[in-house]
Amino acid sequence: MLVRQAWALLVAAAVAVVACSSGEPRPPATAPATPLDALLASTARDRWLDNGIDPWEVWICHVPLDSTVAVYGNLQLRLPLTPEGVAAVLQAHVPAYFDAVSHGAYRPVFSPGGELTMTPAETPESCLAAAAQAARAGTRGVIAVADAEHAMGQPGGFGKAGEPCAQPPCTEQQTGRGAYVGAADFHPLWGDRPPMDLVEHEIGHALGWPHSGVVDGAAQPYQSGIDLMSDSAAPRAVDADRRDGPDTIAVDRLAAGWLVPADVAVVEGAGRTVALWPSTGPTGTRVAVVALDAQTFLTVEVLAASGFDGHLAASGVAVHRVRLAVRPGEARTQQPLVGAPPFTELLTLGRSIVADGWQVVVSSTAGDVWQVAITPSAG
Ligand SMILES: [Zn+2]
Repeated sequence: MLVRQAWALLVAAAVAVVACSSGEPRPPATAPATPLDALLASTARDRWLDNGIDPWEVWICHVPLDSTVAVYGNLQLRLPLTPEGVAAVLQAHVPAYFDAVSHGAYRPVFSPGGELTMTPAETPESCLAAAAQAARAGTRGVIAVADAEHAMGQPGGFGKAGEPCAQPPCTEQQTGRGAYVGAADFHPLWGDRPPMDLVEHEIGHALGWPHSGVVDGAAQPYQSGIDLMSDSAAPRAVDADRRDGPDTIAVDRLAAGWLVPADVAVVEGAGRTVALWPSTGPTGTRVAVVALDAQTFLTVEVLAASGFDGHLAASGVAVHRVRLAVRPGEARTQQPLVGAPPFTELLTLGRSIVADGWQVVVSSTAGDVWQVAITPSAG
């Protein structure tokens, strides 16, 4: 199953997987020399939102019982959600996730906003837009939570970075930055430990992150278990007690400014062996980048089987092919290349892959440091 489901179905399946739309993509504004430079240039304008304290308001969208919007599927359950109650739940869980993932660079803070009563034909997008228009000064993101569940097969929510901000700081009314989710994860049967991976995923979109490992139209389109921005419920599929999403991948850390060029090993020409520390860690060279053309590059990184990636069977090396958005309407694509879905079996000592004309070999490991040889492949 691919989406957040009605509560009864959730209990029966015990596994739920995120699906959502990601808002408008952001094509690069310049044409720098390398695709890494292009990534950094095209994401620079979002950095003011991706770092420091990020004030979010929580709004409740009351869905009428006679709603005709397909996402609600005529389901009749309504939860007595309040902005204060949902803000308290989010504040108790989500800041700690992003504080850990960003190593203190980014911390969302949630406060109550207000409540909106939707008309029968009103969509989630409309409710979120109305909440954004009503947000207080200083708010940088609005999260709208419906009091109704979503029907089976419907997206669990969506998130968006909003309109570009030419001269930060911009107001919430100018950007419309926000996220929306259905009610399923706030059902009281979750107790005081509701799943937070869907909200974390949608906030990832508000940080400007696209999906990874996505196959549009597939029965399970979000196929990667090694990135918050794909199958965010992957940790819970391994351990039912998990509530947060996986950690994220190096390319998104670069985009957010949580990794900087000094943390990157650029590999070119005849290639070389790189000493890599885990990309999810706080120090060291944390990603190797191989340019394939002006818009495309490989990222090579170590993911440690600990923390939010504790669902991995073993630490190892992940490789992604990243293709930048070129035309308006496109999103950056990020495809894991090691193994098969859910891509959680990574390269370990002595293992290698060949991808896009390059061979990646794990040549030795010592503690947190992995020696990875990245060279042009023969033929
Ligand atoms: Zn998404």
